Amino acid sequence: MDCNTVKPGQQNNGLGGATGPFWKSLQQFLPLVLGAVLVGVTACSSSPMPTNDSNALPVVATFSILDDLVQNVGGEQVQVITLVGPDGDAHTFEPTPADSAALTKAAVIFENGLGLEPWLDDLYSASGATAQRVVVSNGVDLLGIHEAGAEQAATDADHADHGEFDPHIWHNVANAMQMVENIRNALSAADPDHADLYATNAENYLAELKDLDGWVRERVATLPAARRKLVTSHDTFGYFAAAYGFEIIGTAMGSASTEAADPSARDLAALAETIKAADVPAIFAENVANPQLVEQIAQETDVKMGPPLYTDALGKAGSDGDSYIKMMRYNVDAIVNALSE
Ligand SMILES: [Zn+2]
Repeated sequence: MDCNTVKPGQQNNGLGGATGPFWKSLQQFLPLVLGAVLVGVTACSSSPMPTNDSNALPVVATFSILDDLVQNVGGEQVQVITLVGPDGDAHTFEPTPADSAALTKAAVIFENGLGLEPWLDDLYSASGATAQRVVVSNGVDLLGIHEAGAEQAATDADHADHGEFDPHIWHNVANAMQMVENIRNALSAADPDHADLYATNAENYLAELKDLDGWVRERVATLPAARRKLVTSHDTFGYFAAAYGFEIIGTAMGSASTEAADPSARDLAALAETIKAADVPAIFAENVANPQLVEQIAQETDVKMGPPLYTDALGKAGSDGDSYIKMMRYNVDAIVNALSE
């Protein structure tokens, strides 16, 4: 855990409680901001910022799942600063000066792309960083934003804000494998002296991911096809559903971003009807979203709630979802168990 990993709604303390996007006033207050950044960095004694005696490659991962993939390939040869930490929500993240400082120190910035990090372009320009940006979703077979019924379709404005493709690629293990290959290639290019190490680490981790994919398929096969129906807080399981044979019945927020406005009473009533008609055995809240909407739907439909799933972020260290592999195993177990009953 480092000091750049903050929960949504919490302010990283780099500017002593300042709020809002700071880059708008960056030019006016440059000396002040730089001073605050230095204070923020030095006050963060447990931060894994690279030190002078370390030859590790300083890199940034935009969110916790990507952090884990990068760590698995880079090992001790990389120093990863993560912008959106465990249980944090990349959709609604508000960067701080400490995040800007992390970008300027990085040799490589790993991002998901596809609109998951709508704040990154501004942050990157304002930071003056020169690091190479690597979009790890390159090469993945993309799915459009899920269209679960006309009343749930994303609006044109949503498309403009969040891109036309579904960003939640990691819920299909095959896509995570593509992400790992992209990470390996980028690290090897940035640090050719350690290309062999990155290749070996990636090969080992890819073997683990292949096993994970096989395990997911075996576990899902124990669930009758008629029960493979998902209802969650926001539309995050499109790739999971497509890869492992589930149907997305609907989502509480009716959007592929948690930034969406609350659904209307009419939208919720329509979703409740759909859930009842589809005979959905259980519905799920998520670690990155307020569970209140899903609780309300559960009450209205008299359908039980499964345990909250790890969706757009890992769980905190020591939790059942503190690595990508653990998160996937936890989710699949939770989904299969709750929908079996
Ligand atoms: Zn999401």
